[in-house]
Amino acid sequence: MEAAESASQAAAVVPVTPALPGDGTGHEDGASPGGGASPTGAFRRGRPPAHLADLPPAGRRAAAQRLGHQGFRADQLARHYFGRLTDDPADMTDLPVSARDDLARALLPLLLTAEREFSCDGGTTRKTLWRALDGSYLESVLMRYPGRATICVSSQAGCGMACPFCATGQAGLTRSLSAAEIVTQVVSGAGALARGEVPGGPGRVSNVVFMGMGEPLANYSSVLSAVRRLTDQVPDGLGISRRAVTVSTVGLVPAIRRLAGEQLPVRLAVSLHAPDDDLRDELVPVNRRWQVAEVLDAAWDYAAATGRRISIEYAMIRGVNDQAWRAEALARLLAGNLAHVNLIPLNPTPGSRWTASDPGVAREFQAVLAARGILVTVRGTRGTEIDGACGQLAASSRPAAGPARSDLFG
Ligand code: SAH
Repeated sequence: MEAAESASQAAAVVPVTPALPGDGTGHEDGASPGGGASPTGAFRRGRPPAHLADLPPAGRRAAAQRLGHQGFRADQLARHYFGRLTDDPADMTDLPVSARDDLARALLPLLLTAEREFSCDGGTTRKTLWRALDGSYLESVLMRYPGRATICVSSQAGCGMACPFCATGQAGLTRSLSAAEIVTQVVSGAGALARGEVPGGPGRVSNVVFMGMGEPLANYSSVLSAVRRLTDQVPDGLGISRRAVTVSTVGLVPAIRRLAGEQLPVRLAVSLHAPDDDLRDELVPVNRRWQVAEVLDAAWDYAAATGRRISIEYAMIRGVNDQAWRAEALARLLAGNLAHVNLIPLNPTPGSRWTASDPGVAREFQAVLAARGILVTVRGTRGTEIDGACGQLAASSRPAAGPARSDLFG
């Protein structure tokens, strides 16, 4: 996803135990987007059980009170979860035993099980294949660099945007994730870093990018509440800088405009991939609804509202969108605006007729933009050999022996 790194080591598959302890049970708390957990922690009305990470501070205190505990007990629980990255009641020695078991059971149900983990780059790139309680699969990728660590999270299981060059787009949408299912991906990566499980010594998650599976702005309210949990300070959240969170979108204009009004200066990335509507209609089908000019208008208004430079994502596809005239057209669209172009060599996905641009052609495309004063970088992709790179997340590695979907319901 980010800076180019050569693959230094063959991909390794390591068995994992569930990243979060707990038995997956939970009690009704009535306050989550999922409408609360059943006693077995199973789905109700097609939604995952409620979890602490779905709730703002007042909501979690109310949930504790409904369980017969004092509100501040929920804050203690949150301090363990967000601050110490544990959901094991045995670690929560400042809480009375009965309260900690009760609260953990109700507010920290196990939502995602790490089904498999894949690593490369000497263990500094790790992809996790997660299974949710309804049997949906999703993936996240942790990438550690000197001085920072980025986690790429999924906002949906699958994606409904149908971009033909993207593996997730080919598979279609299974469902949107809850806020807590998104936050859990980050908490798991943060825990692995904090415990020193990633080469390079104990560390922290510094950046979160919504560039895994799914279209984040098609799951607006869960993504927004996840961003708040990620960026609020402990005990209300993980305390990651808002400026270090990137929300990447195909260009859902009304949602971009809504996000601009949230007083939340996260970085916005727009997956443009073509400067002209003819080609973009094909590469990013939602362009038929919101065309290039309208998407960029919304992006510039976002930049004005937040003071943040817009990332323009452009997958370089050989012979499709990499002509010099398209670089010139792109430069004209961006000139004078707060933008930065990320050129991403296409990661060919199985069955795709497309491949990455010739490196010389990509360099020329970059040079045309740079010569016209546009900020531009070529982004390498980490994790290619573990199918963990941009657009490769499709849960294609799901284990054949996994429980059938129907086993997990009711
Ligand atoms: N739905 C959101 C976020 C997920 S994809 C979006 O489209 O922005 C994150 C980025 O990876 C997007 O820019 C997407 O277009 C890009 N991408 C998808 N498939 C790719 C591929 N095969 N090669 C390179 N980039 C790809």
